[in-house]
Order: sequence, then C-alpha cells, then structure tokens
Amino acid sequence: MFIDMMDRMLKPLHRMLTVSGQQCLTCGQTASLSRGYLGICKTCYLSIPWITNPKCVYCGRLIGCPDCTREDAGPWHFVCNRSAAAYNTVMREWLAQYKYRGNESYAPLLIRMMERAYRQLQREVHRRQRFLSHESGHPSGVNWQIHLVTSVPVSTARLQERGFNQAEVLGRGLAAACKLPYADLLKRERHTDKQSFKSRIARLKDMEGVFHCLPEAGERLLAQARRTCSGSTRRALPVSLDSIDRAYPFRILLVDDVYTTGSTVNACSKELKLAGESCGILVEVYSLTWARS
Ligand SMILES: [Zn+2]
Ligand SMILES: [Zn+2]
Repeated sequence: MFIDMMDRMLKPLHRMLTVSGQQCLTCGQTASLSRGYLGICKTCYLSIPWITNPKCVYCGRLIGCPDCTREDAGPWHFVCNRSAAAYNTVMREWLAQYKYRGNESYAPLLIRMMERAYRQLQREVHRRQRFLSHESGHPSGVNWQIHLVTSVPVSTARLQERGFNQAEVLGRGLAAACKLPYADLLKRERHTDKQSFKSRIARLKDMEGVFHCLPEAGERLLAQARRTCSGSTRRALPVSLDSIDRAYPFRILLVDDVYTTGSTVNACSKELKLAGESCGILVEVYSLTWARS
C-alpha cells in the first residue's frame, strides 16, 4: 500500500526530470536533438555535406570545376556563388520535403544552413580584402558588406501550384537572421525545363527573356541605397549615392535553393545590374544558394 502510494507520487516527478528524446525532423527517430540545428538529431547533423572549402572560387563547387574556367564560359554577371552544402541524395530528400511536399518545418533548418554559408562567405571576402590591401601596400581596411538581399522568383503558374516561393522564404529568413534588408526585385515570365542536360548554347537561349526586374525594382534599389548611405558612418558603406562606384558598389545577395549550371543565377544577375544601371547605381551581385549540385 505504502509502496503503491510512493510509486504514484514519484512517477510524475520522474517523468518531469527525465529529458526524453524528441522526434528528429529528417529521420523520424527519437533522439536528443542537435543544439542549434532546429529539429534534427546529431546523426542527421553529421550527415550534412558542408562545403567549407570550395575548390572552384567562382561557383563554389566542392570538387574541381572545368565549367567556370572554360574559354567560352561566361559572360558572368555575378561575382561568385557560395553554397551551404553539396547536393547529395540526403540533401535532395530534404529539399523535396520542403519544396515539393510543402513541409514548412524544414524552412528554419535550411535557413540556418544558409546563414552559416553567408557568414563563411563574409569571412572569405574579408580575408581576401585584407590580403589585397596588404599586397598593394594601401591598407584600405575591410569594407565588404551586403546592402540588399533578394531571391530568384518562380513563375506565377509554379507559385499557384506550390503556394510559396521556396527561394523567397529562404531569402527573407536569411535576411532576418543576418539583419540585412530584403526586397523582391525580379519576376519570372515562364518556367524552364531542367537546364543541366542542355548544352551551354541551349541554356543561354532558354534563359532569354525568362527574368525581368519588377517595375518597382529601380525605386526599391534607390530607396535602399539612400538608406544605406544615410546610415553610413564607417568605410563599410558608400557615404553618398555618387560614391557608389567600383570601390563601393551596391552589393546584392541573390538567394536560390540549388545552383546547378549557374544559368539562372547569371540571368537574374544580368537583370539586377541593368536595373542598377537604369537608376545610376553600380550593382554587384553575389549568389548564395542552399546547395551546389
Ligand atoms: Zn535524424
Ligand atoms: Zn566553378
């Protein structure tokens, strides 16, 4: 009788003190979750194929990349691409869950991965700037910074079908996490088929006229450039619209889920630069994608 009573009293207390495992978002196992990595277990965290040291400085590919150095490659309208992880079968499954099966609980995880990639890009550029200023003997300091984040748009048909633009969610989430401003600047006229099986010429032809800047893009660029200048107290930012030049270009970070051939990022970057030109702002585009295939 006494033991029964003790048992009844202690059971809830025991349950309160035991931290039971939670269900992992990606593998479904009950396990203790990885700290900071939003809903996944340690095993799943360890399976992420991070790209920490890309072999190709242009497209951020993990392995050697003949595409970017080919003589007929380009013209490139963006400075470089960096991706959080290599697009392997595990990453493909995660993206499928998020993008095609509409599992929104994947968004914070993917955004967190992109945030890591962004910080890495930042460190990489700062290191390079320090090296260059040291080499040239003109210590100009570190002034690289992103002024505006935007994302690759989907066509209206795709948006209706999926209900959301996966790249926009990533872009907005990344901007919020890194305290950067975000604006939609582009629109997609039509959907295109998979580009990876096409020749370079066919890809270029296919991308013609797919992306355009929104009518309000110029206005948005100017407004953000003005805000950037008015808030400029350090050399990290241009101090006036006139001083947005080669030394202090207006830097846009273009966000997408997967980088495959670069033709999408390149077509978007071209339009963003043109929008800048039309309102007298020198735009420089950096691409950040969640995965690199
Ligand atoms: Zn797991
Ligand atoms: Zn490359």
